Amino acid sequence: MNTNPTNTILTGLGVSPGVVAGPVARMAAPLVVPPPGGPVADVDAEVARALEALGAAAADLERRAKAADELAAGVLAAQAMMALDPTLAGKITAAVRAGSTAVAALTHGFDEFRELLTAAGGYMAERVADLEDVRNRAVAHMLGVPMPEIPQPGHPFVLVATDLSPAETATLDASQVLAIVTERGGPTSHTAILAKAMGVPAVVACPDTSALVDGQTVLVDGEEGTIEVAPSESRVAEANQRQEARRAALVGITGPGRTADGHLVQLLVNLGADRDLAVAAEVDSEGVGLFRTEFLFLDRPHAPTLDEQREAYARVFEAFAGRKVVVRTLDAGADKPLRFATQPDEPNPALGVRGLRTARRLPQLLDDQLEAIARAAKDSHAEVWVMAPMVSSPSEAAAFRQQAHNHGLVMAGVMVEVPSAALRATKVAAACDFLSIGTNDLAQYAMAADRMNSDLADLLDPWQPAVLDLVRLAAEGGQQEGKRVGVCGESASDPLLALVLVGLGVTSLSMAPVRLAEVRLALARHTLEDCERLAALALGADDAVAARAAVREAAHR
Ligand code: PEP
Ligand code: MG
Repeated sequence: MNTNPTNTILTGLGVSPGVVAGPVARMAAPLVVPPPGGPVADVDAEVARALEALGAAAADLERRAKAADELAAGVLAAQAMMALDPTLAGKITAAVRAGSTAVAALTHGFDEFRELLTAAGGYMAERVADLEDVRNRAVAHMLGVPMPEIPQPGHPFVLVATDLSPAETATLDASQVLAIVTERGGPTSHTAILAKAMGVPAVVACPDTSALVDGQTVLVDGEEGTIEVAPSESRVAEANQRQEARRAALVGITGPGRTADGHLVQLLVNLGADRDLAVAAEVDSEGVGLFRTEFLFLDRPHAPTLDEQREAYARVFEAFAGRKVVVRTLDAGADKPLRFATQPDEPNPALGVRGLRTARRLPQLLDDQLEAIARAAKDSHAEVWVMAPMVSSPSEAAAFRQQAHNHGLVMAGVMVEVPSAALRATKVAAACDFLSIGTNDLAQYAMAADRMNSDLADLLDPWQPAVLDLVRLAAEGGQQEGKRVGVCGESASDPLLALVLVGLGVTSLSMAPVRLAEVRLALARHTLEDCERLAALALGADDAVAARAAVREAAHR
């Protein structure tokens, strides 16, 4: 906490830009699960109490799912299913019959599930927070105490919370929430993603939120990562003016991405689900830079048929007729496990058979997918490119290109996500048609930091100069071979980092649709030479924090 004579400024991590002032409304503290107590007098009644609490939690989550948008509804429905899992009910019943209280049996039953999920790692481990939320809902119901809910003070407010669960964020009313401040979370946390999607300023990882009280006015700067307590009227007026000017500038510039001196940088969108297609196709972009096809394969016992795939791809190509669509072939494994394609017992899934490597075990899967993409592309007016995830060597790149070309797909590139591909970028670029840097995984592998582990968020930061060194190598390799090199990881959506990436030689940036306008504006305000200067500053820094600070200081606003 940084105190000055007139007011207090808290600092955290700015994860969604914008400046806004408003009154604080705090979420209640998280539920505290009481000690077991006991002994149990009426075992049957105690079993019924536990099962009724699970049913009530499930019904509540289902009710919320109905009122939520599609993205949140999926998470909430999955949570309701967790609550109704028959194995869980069986374990809880058995525990009560063996002498546990309902609260203890519930808590212990969920603990076992949590351990299983944690051990599975990746995407499954990420579901632990959802599971804990379900348990808390069931326990709160049993104890007759309310769950911490989003406050409803009756006027727009700055939401202050320890952290936000999917169930909580699903009920957020964008017209009431002016900004979000959380004590926990990192740049890729649920809160950060949601705030960006809502276009609401947000600061996470702010350890001093307990200093904020209901009704107090705060000025939240989601770019600087600051929360000014009790700002003066002139500070608020100045912030409002800044915000207005920013809004006007954002809507005032459209069309292909370019720097202030006219250097073209393709601006593309990432697409990961059918339901996002309409919004993604509507925004002002030059196409799709990363079409994550996993959504078609998730939660299925078998791969979708060739025809089913062709139809799904055709829908995307149709929506982007006349524009480019880069389809990524299936990236199964690690954070995206698939029942039929992933080995459940791999000790290190992130270092295991994932991405393109899946084709070693299941070659038909990749071949069918390429055929489905090729058939859909043939009947469409989109410019269809394909790329493979998790490529480690020039020979893998060459083999993938050959296979894609055999299917009639003429533009076949690879993702640079493994440091070895960046280190040998010239040869990798020579072996295929383009490169696309996945900075999420590249950071994970360069820094040896699990991307699902929020305790390591500082290391995973794509501002890490070592990660930027690898981006530079990839961009230079592509340049030498006359191949395009894009970035499609989360880093492309950070306006300041986008400048650095362009300065390092990247030729396209692909991101969540909602981020495009900010990045387009940042590019328009800087020349290519500015970008190169900012890139040099970032590369010269000792860590991610210093790199970001140096670039922020030197960039024009
Ligand atoms: C990446 O790793 O940066 C990337 C874009 O792929 P994903 O996030 O889907 O692994
Ligand atoms: Mg990746």
